[in-house]
Amino acid sequence: MIRIENLSKQFPDGTRALKNVSLEVRDGEFVSIIGLSGAGKSTLLRCINRLVEPTSGRVEVDGIDVTDAPPDTLRRVRCMTGMIFQQFNLVKRATVLTNVLTGRLGTTPPLWALMNRFRPEDYRDAMANLERVGIADKAHQKAGELSGGQQQRVAIARALMQRPRYILADEPVASLDPATSHSVLRYLEEVNRQDGLTVLCNLHVLSLARRYATRVIALKGGELVFDGLPEEIDENRFKAIYGQDAEELEIH
Ligand code: ADP
Repeated sequence: MIRIENLSKQFPDGTRALKNVSLEVRDGEFVSIIGLSGAGKSTLLRCINRLVEPTSGRVEVDGIDVTDAPPDTLRRVRCMTGMIFQQFNLVKRATVLTNVLTGRLGTTPPLWALMNRFRPEDYRDAMANLERVGIADKAHQKAGELSGGQQQRVAIARALMQRPRYILADEPVASLDPATSHSVLRYLEEVNRQDGLTVLCNLHVLSLARRYATRVIALKGGELVFDGLPEEIDENRFKAIYGQDAEELEIH
């Protein structure tokens, strides 16, 4: 379970990105965080494993107090929380397989990691995870040669190498066209349903949240303004979250 209590973040320039946000995410949920660009979605996600340092409040992951965690505990939390980013964050000149293997670096002996050496079971798992996202045949291609959707699937396979309990996906399909977006989200749905991984996924397009999430959280100006079922977001709630002129967001 992820428990967030009174979380606030103020950046050094004075921007208040999160204001007193509290929520709990139960194991097995697929939570979509929605809201306009700048609403605080990415900051919220990154506070969970302290890629962003909260200003105040508390985050607990699996009973571990993240906000106060010493480096080794924080490393454990980061291992439990696989991240997926909008821009995939792959090493484009390395092969797909090498990119996926780097998901094991957290548990590889440091000297081996330096020499880029992995255990036979790591190779096996990497291929199995690539199989999982339907691109095992691309294992030996350079990551940069793949399409955007395929690169994001490599990023999912890499995150799975950590054997995470949580997937934190920060706008994973914002750079992809609608059809490709589904081909990526389908795999997040699959690991959620089949493996029981808890997924927190920032999506600024409501229709995608409606299609994939079991629960939707909306942020506006750093505040939590909705927490409920996707189907509870009617036209009025939609306008309250996105503003009066936001119709075109629905079209996607
Ligand atoms: P979202 O993910 O919903 O687009 P973000 O969490 O990225 O929103 O940003 C929330 C607010 O915090 C925005 O006003 C953004 O400009 C600001 N912000 C994000 N990162 C920083 C930073 N490193 N320094 C200053 N302001 C930031």
